[in-house]
Amino acid sequence: MQERFDGIVLFERKYKENDGLVKIFTEPFGTKMFFVKGLYRPNHKLRSQLLPLTYNRYIGTIHADGLSFLQEGETLNFFRQIQSDYLRQAYATYVTQLTDAALEDAEPNPAVYQILLGALEAINQDLDPAIITLHTELHLLKFFGIYWNWQGCLYCQVTDQALDISLRQQGLLCPRHFDKDAYRLHADPRAVFALRILASRPIGAIQRMDLSQATLAQMRRIVDEIYREYVGIRLRSKRYLEELKKSEALSQALLAKRKKNQ
Ligand SMILES: [Zn+2]
Repeated sequence: MQERFDGIVLFERKYKENDGLVKIFTEPFGTKMFFVKGLYRPNHKLRSQLLPLTYNRYIGTIHADGLSFLQEGETLNFFRQIQSDYLRQAYATYVTQLTDAALEDAEPNPAVYQILLGALEAINQDLDPAIITLHTELHLLKFFGIYWNWQGCLYCQVTDQALDISLRQQGLLCPRHFDKDAYRLHADPRAVFALRILASRPIGAIQRMDLSQATLAQMRRIVDEIYREYVGIRLRSKRYLEELKKSEALSQALLAKRKKNQ
């Protein structure tokens, strides 16, 4: 039976000579793998609806097991900024791979679907993709089975102190309770505060957060620690993103130096 459904393209890969396998996170059926005959021949009619990191409406046949098939597609959002800016694309690819890792195949998950869609929409705008990515990582944690408590101190619930992170207790400590974890992270309280804001708000409420590069780097470090400790996956897209950021920083530094010498 033919179905009509919306979905986000996670990735595609070549299959045999000209055919393709495309993994789509569909709203009603979860992630499904589609077989697309002749995808890599010139002028395939669904080419632009099967590009990774696009959002589309499809008509197709869904099979419970094995491969599914598509007949028609219509673009809902091509995310042009993501497609044309390599740095935004690298962030979006990482966020998409991470989402895929958090999901069980072929199980609908409306909450995660909204997280990914919201993240791609936000990265496609003029917002800082580094902040959007942190937001997504925080909101995906519970789908990896990690219930982090960002409310306040785990022992006395205060919220108006310089709170630190306890990795092993999956939450926060106030100065009065720092002694509850000898291995607390000694994190920058500004970074913890900003992460608490990200964790408590939907993506639509994250507009321009004014964060220094130092605070952002601290937030990155904390989220990396949490993921290393509890999620334990290393995605290729994450390594690529880190290399990109390093080379960006390097070329910025070179540019600044050249300007100074002029
Ligand atoms: Zn406390």
